[in-house]
Amino acid sequence: MPERRLFLRIAGSAGVGACIAAAIPKPAKAYLESLDNSTLFSSFLMYHEMSYPSFKRDLMNLIRSGQQPISPDTAVNVLNGQQSIPDNLQTFMPTCDDSLFSQYDSIMKATEEVANETGFFVPVTFCAIMKLDNPTGPVTELSDNTPMYNDRVHRYLTLRQVINLIQAGHILANHTVNHALLPYLSENARNAEVEIAEQRIDAIYQMADVTRPVKILAYPEGRYLGQLDYTEQLGFDLALSTISTTFHTQETRFYAGRIKKS
Ligand SMILES: [Zn+2]
Repeated sequence: MPERRLFLRIAGSAGVGACIAAAIPKPAKAYLESLDNSTLFSSFLMYHEMSYPSFKRDLMNLIRSGQQPISPDTAVNVLNGQQSIPDNLQTFMPTCDDSLFSQYDSIMKATEEVANETGFFVPVTFCAIMKLDNPTGPVTELSDNTPMYNDRVHRYLTLRQVINLIQAGHILANHTVNHALLPYLSENARNAEVEIAEQRIDAIYQMADVTRPVKILAYPEGRYLGQLDYTEQLGFDLALSTISTTFHTQETRFYAGRIKKS
C-alpha cells in the first residue's frame, strides 16, 4: 500500500443521519430524523472512456470545493453503521467501468499528481470485464499483456496494468466475465458470469500481493432486476447501478446509484 492514503477514514460515535438532520431546515427534519446511522450522502462518480486532463480537473475541482474522496471500504463501513462522516462534509468516490485502456493513464497520472498537489490520495474503483482472452482458463498462466476484453471496437487494460493499478492503491471490482446483462441469463449462466469473475479477481489480487479490501459488483448497463438476493448471498459489500442519486442506505447498497461523468 502506498503511504499516502489520506482519503477519508473517519471514525466516530455519532450517526451520520443524526449529523445531517441537525443541518436540515425544519420541514424535512421529521423524515431525516427517522433515518438510521447507516445513511450516506456521497457522489459515486461513473466514468467510461476517460482522459487524464479532464479527470485530473474533475478531481481538483471537487477537492478545491471542499469535497473529500472516500474509499469504497469507508462507504461500506458507513452503510454498515460502523463509521460516520462529519456533519456537512461532502464526499465523492470515483468509479470507472469496462476496463478501458484510456483509464490507465487517467487514473495513474491524475491521482498521483492530485495527491502531490492536494495531499489527498483518491482511490478509484475500476469495474473490469474479466474475459481475459480465455473465459475460464487460469489467469495465472496468461501473459502480462493479455487484454481484459477484446471487441475490436475499444482498447482495453492489460492484465499487467490491472495489477499495477491495484498495487497503486486502486480497487478492482467485478463487472462480469463478458459484460453480461444478468437479468436475461439462465441462473447457471448468470452464476458463471459473476462467480468466475470473482475467482479471477481473487487470483489477480494474489498476483498483485495485495489484500482485497472490499467486494464490489457493477451490474453491466446497470441491470440489477431480480439480482439483489443473489448479490447479497454471494457476500458482496456493495453493488453499483446507474441510478442517478447521491443518497445511499444499508438497503440501497446492492443497487447503489452513480452520477454519470463519461
Ligand atoms: Zn459496462
